[in-house]
Amino acid sequence: MLGWYAREQRDLPWRRPGVTPWQILVSEFMLQQTPVARVEPVWRDWVRRWPTPSATAAASPADVLRAWGRLGYPRRAKRLHECATVIATEHDDVVPADVATLLTLPGVGAYTARAVACFAYGQRVPVVDTNVRRVVARVVHGRADAPPSAHDLDEVAALLPEGDDAPRFSAALMELGATVCTARSPKCPNCPLSRCAWRARGFPPADAPARRPQRYAGTDRQARGALLEVLRTSEGPVPKARLDLAWTADTAQRDRALDSLLVDGLVEQTPDGRFALAGEGEPRP
Ligand code: SF4
Repeated sequence: MLGWYAREQRDLPWRRPGVTPWQILVSEFMLQQTPVARVEPVWRDWVRRWPTPSATAAASPADVLRAWGRLGYPRRAKRLHECATVIATEHDDVVPADVATLLTLPGVGAYTARAVACFAYGQRVPVVDTNVRRVVARVVHGRADAPPSAHDLDEVAALLPEGDDAPRFSAALMELGATVCTARSPKCPNCPLSRCAWRARGFPPADAPARRPQRYAGTDRQARGALLEVLRTSEGPVPKARLDLAWTADTAQRDRALDSLLVDGLVEQTPDGRFALAGEGEPRP
């Protein structure tokens, strides 16, 4: 696995020498629900503009939402901004290294905390995402896939080599699931593993039918994206009529989307009834 990873790993910018724990944390926020190819350019611009937590914290919420662009699930941008503020003010602008403290940060869950401890600080902690879970299900248990389980962390921890190789092994496991042992079409001839229980059993199908990819067209998520795009490309508050034009297919859905953006704190309403990105609803001094 380690030899294969040294040869075959993708050249991703957040894996290069000199990338800081904060910049790795930013990549993990962005990669949570967005593919690598879409994250890469946004991440590059982001860390060039805001290389540290305090630089990010000093940006306005609206600037952060604009820089997030079309990565989707923009609540992550808001949480990242909050996370930067907590690190800047409570941790001397240094990303914590231990999992327990990382878990106290806004927007940092079980996966992200361990990914940062492992990839940014070289700790021997199990990192389990859907790719890793699938590889372990196949190689160890001979099953096509497995749902999340309370045993995931212990099981992956037991696979980690002792010593300094553990973080690279974790990265290799994840890379194998992302590029070779993929959900739909595993490329077994390219696999570095000589033993795999699923292959040995003749690739029995999954117990449950494969989940269909989530539809995007016509969803509330798409409506939210269309409304946010209007505000991201505006210099300040806009009247409701401008937003109405951005989503004409279903007016009830549009109003629902706008309500949810207000509730999430991504959008705010000015005293005169117009709408703006968070922090831009008040007249500038
Ligand atoms: S042999 Fe095939 S199924 Fe098994 S781990 Fe490798 S790519 Fe995945």
